[in-house]
Amino acid sequence: MYGAMTETPQPVPDPAPAPEPASAPVAAPAEARPSLVGLDRAKLGAALAAIGVPEREQRMRVNQLWHWIYLRGATDFSEMTNVSKHLRAQLEAAYSLDRPEVVVEQVSADGTRKWLLRFPPHEIGESPAEIETVYIPESDRGTLCVSSQVGCTLNCAFCHTGTQRLVRNLSAAEIVGQVMVARDRLGDYPGRDRATGPGLPTEGERLVTNIVFMGMGEPLYAYDSVKEAIEILSDGDGLGLGKRRITVSTSGVVPEIERLGSEVGPMLAISLHAVRDDLRDVLVPINKKYPIKELLAACRAYPAASNAKRITFEYVMLKGVNDSPADAKALVKLLEGVPAKINLIPFNPWPGTQYECSDWETIERFSDIVFRAGYASPVRTPRGRDILAACGQLKSESEKLSARERLALRAMMAADAED
Ligand code: SAH
Ligand code: SF4
Repeated sequence: MYGAMTETPQPVPDPAPAPEPASAPVAAPAEARPSLVGLDRAKLGAALAAIGVPEREQRMRVNQLWHWIYLRGATDFSEMTNVSKHLRAQLEAAYSLDRPEVVVEQVSADGTRKWLLRFPPHEIGESPAEIETVYIPESDRGTLCVSSQVGCTLNCAFCHTGTQRLVRNLSAAEIVGQVMVARDRLGDYPGRDRATGPGLPTEGERLVTNIVFMGMGEPLYAYDSVKEAIEILSDGDGLGLGKRRITVSTSGVVPEIERLGSEVGPMLAISLHAVRDDLRDVLVPINKKYPIKELLAACRAYPAASNAKRITFEYVMLKGVNDSPADAKALVKLLEGVPAKINLIPFNPWPGTQYECSDWETIERFSDIVFRAGYASPVRTPRGRDILAACGQLKSESEKLSARERLALRAMMAADAED
């Protein structure tokens, strides 16, 4: 059910239990059966081998599973009508098609949706991990913002996620699982009831058309998982989200930018936010390790970059910090020779931050300078502020806001609304 955002997040009811297949061996309890959802072809092949599927059949069987899981969104093995009954029963006994657990679903008044997801621990003694995934609908596209880590090791001064310590990297299956949850909840599979509600795309067949790694975490510090996830997401026989529709945003892990370009090749976004090293050292501290010059050299060398495939430079507008006309001019100069788009992001305040968002006139003046230099510089409209879903506000509910923080947030939002 999708409606206007309610004050309190609603817990999501458990899905109906899966029907028992006729003649199936007694199924193990759900938690004992690993899910096949989010696995790549090699891992699906290994899962089939483990239940005795002969090697000569494995490729064909993997292709069948791939089709049902990723193209059709099957949630039950009984849907897999071209798989023999015997194999379906074997699969059902050993594996599940479970998605990550949805703890809370929130829908913003502007149609933005946010899910708090819980993943079981990877190791004994670890607590379950909670992360957030955000869906941002526009008329001609639907962008899903996925997380790559639980928390973040980097401490960018203006980012809420940065205040949460890193718990662990997500696996590729947990990254792909976020996309599967979003498509389930939106009914975004052929033949399903599509979600309806304000703000959803009206053009095109799909509701999730683009993926951005701009949720919690630094994707290039979870490199192996991100690489594997992108290969699964972009596979044309499955989810079919081509690499031009997948953007990895990084704070600037230079060696991994080079690897990402040569090994994977998605679109790239750089969290630049400052044009001088002394300021970027403070705002994006990884700059001390990989300063602006090295970062820009990696961008110039990024193999997938061209005029048709520009690199996005994200620039958060912080009042009195990085928003002067001189900064705008220096930004244009810095990006000379790089196929670039510039994304000006109004700072999204969060309780306890020392920063403020630049005034509207200041943002406009900045944007004009950038525009006159030949860059389209859309100012990214903040989305889903009422559910703390905008950039940098993601922080799992495991660290709940105190009552005082909530009041501070309400006051900020009320002030925004009056602007
Ligand atoms: N860790 C990666 C991706 C996640 S952050 C990165 O840093 O690129 C996604 C974008 O939101 C980044 O550009 C980040 O700098 C920006 N951001 C973080 N906190 C923000 C805030 N409070 N307001 C606006 N943008 C913010
Ligand atoms: Fe981590 Fe990105 Fe936030 Fe920096 S901006 S703390 S890299 S999530």
